[in-house]
Amino acid sequence: MASEPLTEEQREVRDLIRELARERIAPRAAEIDKKAEFPWDVVELFREHGIFGVMYDEEYGGLGASSLMTLVAIEEVSKVCATSGLILAVQELGSLGLKLAGTEEQKDRYLPKLASGDWLTAYALTEPGSGSDSAAMRSEARRDGDAYVINGSKRFITNAGVADLYTVFAKTDPTAGHDGISAFVVEASSPGFAVGRIEPKMGIKGSTTGEIFFDDLRIPAENLLGEEGEGFKIAMRILDRSRPGIGAQGLGLAQGATDYALEYARDRETMGKPIGQHQLIAAQLADMETKCEAARGLLYKCGQLIDDGADGAELTKISAMAKLYCSDVAMEVTTEAVQILGGYGYMQEYPVERMMRDAKITQIYEGTNQIQRLVIAREMLKEDRASLLASAAG
Ligand SMILES: Cc1cc2nc3c(=O)[nH]c(=O)nc-3n(C[C@H](O)[C@H](O)[C@H](O)COP(=O)(O)OP(=O)(O)OC[C@H]3O[C@@H](n4cnc5c(N)ncnc54)[C@H](O)[C@@H]3O)c2cc1C
Repeated sequence: MASEPLTEEQREVRDLIRELARERIAPRAAEIDKKAEFPWDVVELFREHGIFGVMYDEEYGGLGASSLMTLVAIEEVSKVCATSGLILAVQELGSLGLKLAGTEEQKDRYLPKLASGDWLTAYALTEPGSGSDSAAMRSEARRDGDAYVINGSKRFITNAGVADLYTVFAKTDPTAGHDGISAFVVEASSPGFAVGRIEPKMGIKGSTTGEIFFDDLRIPAENLLGEEGEGFKIAMRILDRSRPGIGAQGLGLAQGATDYALEYARDRETMGKPIGQHQLIAAQLADMETKCEAARGLLYKCGQLIDDGADGAELTKISAMAKLYCSDVAMEVTTEAVQILGGYGYMQEYPVERMMRDAKITQIYEGTNQIQRLVIAREMLKEDRASLLASAAG
């Protein structure tokens, strides 16, 4: 698309991923959904073609970490299979703690395994009693000599049971609210780590979502990320950079559904002409395409800002906006695509039925869209726009 701010090299990587997605992942998408099985063959495909590498620097075996390219990769894969797109998004989510707060030693130990895709990662913040309100978490970590001992549990963790490395948040000081939370990297093979029930769910069915338990889980003290008490800040800095990945998953779903509905509208005839030539359908298609393009503009701007080193309030606001807008577009556009296909849209034989179910989660995880709106408004209220108003009035 002409408006994409990608260099020639980035377009080549995108085209490779697009081709892999169309030829190798698309034919698997319906089966992954139906069987609700984690698609290890897709992981293998990503490994073979070095796709995980777009998220990591060359010194760790990657292609040179680029947030923009990570978003493009997630979008391209999610156009055909949102479960497979999520594998890339969560690899980034689970790596960001190390990238942002890891020591050189921690990065050297883990990032090469993640860049090759030999190891998958996960991000474990949510608990049964704390979702939007993460400070209400109850998991605790106690220093014991040269180790930390963690007790508690996490719920709704993507990649539970398939990840080798988890970024885990737990309270080192239960009396200190947000400031009592610390972040750790936890290997799945650590003593005291267990995976519980994997949840059956509405969409992204091939992705595992499950409980994990820490029963006197013992990890080396050097697995602390940053300092004790910095966990909440680390969690939020991670989300500022990972939420756009969910936006990319949503945008991929929306564009994939638009492309499918467009082809359908060319072929399906009623009242003597293709339905795409009925003005009401044409207008729907035009709105769907316009929303996708607007979402892409916001999302890629966010990716570019991250690559340019944006941080703090500026990033918090635009990343929440990208996640909010792209995921709302995903839900609206996939619903419209089902409508355009009429009765066939409601049938499992056609992919838009799956896309609509998959789209819903993008409005919920990594902070619900109500929470994104709160974040955006909070940042707006901190801004000083009085001078602009004064000059407008004058
Ligand atoms: C498939 C799936 C995968 C997930 N993967 C992960 C993962 O990998 N790692 C992880 O840590 N978590 C994960 N989650 C958890 C997810 O991030 C949380 O479910 C989400 O943040 C919402 O938390 P909750 O479910 O506890 O809802 P609650 O926080 O209980 O919210 C319930 C409702 O109240 C609204 N609400 C809450 N507070 C406010 C407020 N202040 N103002 C207005 N409305 C409010 C919410 O928007 C929501 O509509 C996953 C969840 C799902 C379903």
